[in-house]
Amino acid sequence: MNGEKRREIFERLRETNPSPTTELAYETPFELLVAVILSAQATDVGVNKATARLFPVANTPQTILALGEEGLRRHIRTIGLYNAKAANLTKTCGILVEKYHGRVPRKRAELEALPGVGRKTASVILNTAFGEPTIAVDTHIFRVANRTRIATGKTPLQVEQRLLRFVPAEFHKDAHHWLILHGRYTCTARKPRCGTCLICDLCEYRDKTPEQA
Ligand code: SF4
Repeated sequence: MNGEKRREIFERLRETNPSPTTELAYETPFELLVAVILSAQATDVGVNKATARLFPVANTPQTILALGEEGLRRHIRTIGLYNAKAANLTKTCGILVEKYHGRVPRKRAELEALPGVGRKTASVILNTAFGEPTIAVDTHIFRVANRTRIATGKTPLQVEQRLLRFVPAEFHKDAHHWLILHGRYTCTARKPRCGTCLICDLCEYRDKTPEQA
C-alpha cells in the first residue's frame, strides 16, 4: 500500500471519529490498568460489568490489596481466567505500593515488569492513560492491518513496528483506537462488512465480501 492511501484511510477514520477512545470504563490510570489486565480474552462489556462492582469498593492498589486475593476473586469471577488475573493483579498492586507509592509508572520497561502486563497492555496504558503515541496491536488491529495492507506482518510486534514506520506520525496517538473499533464493528473476523466500509475503495484485501467485490 502506498503512503497516499494510508494517509487517506486515517483521514477518513479521523473525520468519522475525531476523538476515539477505549470502550473500557475507567477514571484513573490505575483503573485503566486493572481493566486492561482483566480484558485479556474477555469482552469490554464483561470487564465493565465487573469493574462497576469492583471500583466502588476498591480502585487503588492499597484497597485492592486490602480485599485480599480471595476477596478480589469474588469481585471478578464473571470474567474468564479470573483466578490467574486475581493473582497477577494482587502481585501488581503489591509492586505499585512498594516501588511507586501506589502510582502507575509511565515507563514501558517498568510497566512490562508488572505481573499480567505485556507489551500490548503497556502500550495501551502509555497511549490511553498518558497520551503517548504508541500503537498496541491486538487481534483486531493485527487482522485489519494485514487485510487492508496498511501494515503487514507475521507477528503483532512486526505489525506494530510497520505501523509506526509507515503511518504518518500525526495519526499515531489515535491509530490504536481507530483500528480496533474498525476491526470490532466493520472489518470483523468472520465476515467483514465491506459493503458499508468507509475505506473499501482504499483497502487492498482480495477477498472482500461479495456485495462489494
Ligand atoms: S473493505 Fe472489507 S476487508 Fe477492507 S477494511 Fe473494509 S471491511 Fe475490512
